[in-house]
Amino acid sequence: RSALYAETRDLPPVTRDGTRINLFMNAGLLVDLPQLAESGADGIGLYRTEVPFMVRREFPDVAAQTRLYGRVLEQTGDKPVVFRTLDVGGDKALPYWRGNDEENPAMGWRALRIGLDRPVILRQQLRALIRAAAGRELRVMFPMVTAVAELERARDLVELERARAQSLGEDLPSTIRVGAMMEVPALLWQLPQLLAVTDFIAVGSNDLFQYVFASDRGNPRLARRYDPLSPPGLRLLLSLADEARKAGVDVSVCGEMAGQPLDALALIGCGLRNLSMAPRAVPAVRATVRSVDLPPLARLMRELAEARDHSVRERLRGYARDRGI
Ligand code: PEP
Ligand code: MG
Repeated sequence: RSALYAETRDLPPVTRDGTRINLFMNAGLLVDLPQLAESGADGIGLYRTEVPFMVRREFPDVAAQTRLYGRVLEQTGDKPVVFRTLDVGGDKALPYWRGNDEENPAMGWRALRIGLDRPVILRQQLRALIRAAAGRELRVMFPMVTAVAELERARDLVELERARAQSLGEDLPSTIRVGAMMEVPALLWQLPQLLAVTDFIAVGSNDLFQYVFASDRGNPRLARRYDPLSPPGLRLLLSLADEARKAGVDVSVCGEMAGQPLDALALIGCGLRNLSMAPRAVPAVRATVRSVDLPPLARLMRELAEARDHSVRERLRGYARDRGI
């Protein structure tokens, strides 16, 4: 692993026609962080804060969370980190948190829904993040946003905590950027309203496509049945990237597909410029980016989005093979 990182980490992820693609890594534990420097990733595009909650026996208090987030920021230096607030429920259970005995947990009381109904938990987390990021930029995003009003309420809580810290005379972050994860299809049809109130969007393709195809992300019998590299998947990605670009709002993709070279190829062909992935995926995606000529790829993606195929994966694979990508 480290040999591959060393060989590739200084090669800029720029396409052959000169477009910079930002490659970020996903993380959830302090032990992941050394891979930021090793892989040469541009920052942490998704820090899953529930992971440290999952390995404990009780909720960490504000002081413990502040220390933890402070160490994350310390270790990432000048590179940006996007902290995602607690995303529990669904496939991520906390051993000490009840409320999971639901018939349909993937669509249940989870993530930001819990955060807004139990604002003490969310506010404590925001308080810790604001303290930990004193003097530097804080980026925070909310999982499973379904309605724009939920993001607005979450933003209000960020502002309450910022004002509280200020009134206590604490040092504040230099800026706070607030983002929404795009994981629930309903949000796709609220884009103008969403783009007006969010600083950035992160596509959680694992959940988004699970809901788009009504197909459990963890069920191996369904794993290959529906493909984001298909006309509906590509149309979704193309129009999301177009609308976000027009609004001048950054959009990244941080689900597993961002770390699969062929899927990453489709994403950049659809206009996405920020990909966040498991650190071990960075070298291969970097190599893919560097071998691409974007204009013809972008034309191909628009053509494939109108195809009649159930999946266009093989056609894209053939295109990549023919061009030495
Ligand atoms: C996703 O849903 O794609 C995502 C990045 O979040 P998680 O995998 O943690 O649900
Ligand atoms: Mg998710």
